[in-house]
Amino acid sequence: MSGTSEEQPLKVIVVGAGLGGCACALALHAQGFEVTVFERLRTFRRLGDSLGLGENALKLLRRWGGQELYDTLCSIGNQAPNMQIRRWHDGKILAQQPLMDMAGYIGHRGDYHEVFLKAVRDAGVPVHMDHEVVAFDEEKPSVFLANGREVEADVIVGADGIKSKARELVLGFKDHPKSSGYSCFRAYFPGSIVRGDPKCSDFVNEDCVNIWIGEDTHVVQNTLRNGEEFNWILTRKLSDEKDMEITESWYQEGDLNEVWKCVEGLDERIVAAIRKTPSCLDWKICYRDPLQTWTSRSHKIVLLGDSCHPHLPTSAQGASQATESAAVLAICLKLAGKENVPLATRTYEKLRFARTERSRHNGEDLRDRWHSALRMSNAGGEIDPETIKMHNRPLYAFDAEADAMQRWHSVSSQVANELRSGCISPLFDMGARNAIDVVAPAPLGATAT
Ligand SMILES: Cc1cc2nc3c(=O)[nH]c(=O)nc-3n(C[C@H](O)[C@H](O)[C@H](O)COP(=O)(O)OP(=O)(O)OC[C@H]3O[C@@H](n4cnc5c(N)ncnc54)[C@H](O)[C@@H]3O)c2cc1C
Repeated sequence: MSGTSEEQPLKVIVVGAGLGGCACALALHAQGFEVTVFERLRTFRRLGDSLGLGENALKLLRRWGGQELYDTLCSIGNQAPNMQIRRWHDGKILAQQPLMDMAGYIGHRGDYHEVFLKAVRDAGVPVHMDHEVVAFDEEKPSVFLANGREVEADVIVGADGIKSKARELVLGFKDHPKSSGYSCFRAYFPGSIVRGDPKCSDFVNEDCVNIWIGEDTHVVQNTLRNGEEFNWILTRKLSDEKDMEITESWYQEGDLNEVWKCVEGLDERIVAAIRKTPSCLDWKICYRDPLQTWTSRSHKIVLLGDSCHPHLPTSAQGASQATESAAVLAICLKLAGKENVPLATRTYEKLRFARTERSRHNGEDLRDRWHSALRMSNAGGEIDPETIKMHNRPLYAFDAEADAMQRWHSVSSQVANELRSGCISPLFDMGARNAIDVVAPAPLGATAT
């Protein structure tokens, strides 16, 4: 590293101050880099509803932000020890698991986001609200803001969510979402609306998580803050072509008449609570194929979070995996040094891809197991509780920073060779779509997309 490099910390721009962008800012700051965050929105509202934050993310956040941050985040989540997986029509408990097997802490997305954002600001990282990035110069690299300013850095991180502009630049085309064939109605409202109704009293008075599984459908109920807040999410398979039309939105209002139809035959105790719902959102679950690269041709613009590895709701790992990615990117930039940004970004994507794919697949696998369990039992079999349990526990023991440090040498050596030859291998082989480990390369040259 040159003398100048040692004096001047690496400059990183993070585009987007969602949970992924905030985690990234914290991880980069912890490595001593100069970080600036640009966020399109003028202000954040308490948006979304239940979001899971696993121990795999929490342990990293504690490292960057201390025990107080960790404790605050844990206190936001559901405090029930267990969750119950129940039969659709009568609510019979089919399986019970510690909540920590499911998602870790399930709390309101907006509450987590507020704490993440405060931690970034407390660390002294500037977060510029109302600063939309409208274009990039990938060679410098720099961002162009809607206000006409251009800002340069050594690396730019596109943590700009599911409709990412940075992803368009990295891929060289607009990557349209596909329908997953599933849709969620979601509602989050004050517990006082449902409290007092004896029919649903089992589920509304204290923290608890219950899941009703049916054929091609399931309902998750999450009661928080000792009954002060109540949330349900109904996931169903879409059959109608029209329903499959994709509007990728967190804000689309749901039709409650449609919800009533979907819960016909469901355990009447939870139906009693759902019936009191003032309004809900209709969220078509969109799917995106894995990307062959997360890094621009110049290797200086790199994606993170939902912009490159969006998760289905049943994975309960979207924010946690974004946090892991933040950790790995920061470690790679540190280990590579300021003069070797391409080595860092290309090693980062290779270190991360297989794990994010595994975590994404977990969500699909769980949904499919839940949605088919009753069909199998209706055909005469008893349901083995193990077949409907969540298998997220192994994800939580993982330490993304330790793993990155351990594998850095072997993966970065491979990447160094690829950079020398100008032939960067894609993150997976299109010909072997099901192989989720990083596989032998078909060339993805510096000019290919
Ligand atoms: C409104 C909303 C509600 C959600 N609700 C839930 C939920 O209930 N449960 C759940 O599990 N997950 C939810 N998610 C998804 C979850 O937050 C993410 O999976 C996870 O936190 C990782 O997010 P991210 O930071 O990569 O992307 P996001 O959370 O989407 O954040 C991206 C940020 O980038 C900003 N941005 C986008 N384009 C630009 C640009 N050009 N210039 C500057 N800034 C830009 C956006 O305004 C946004 O703040 C929600 C996401 C959103 C946006």
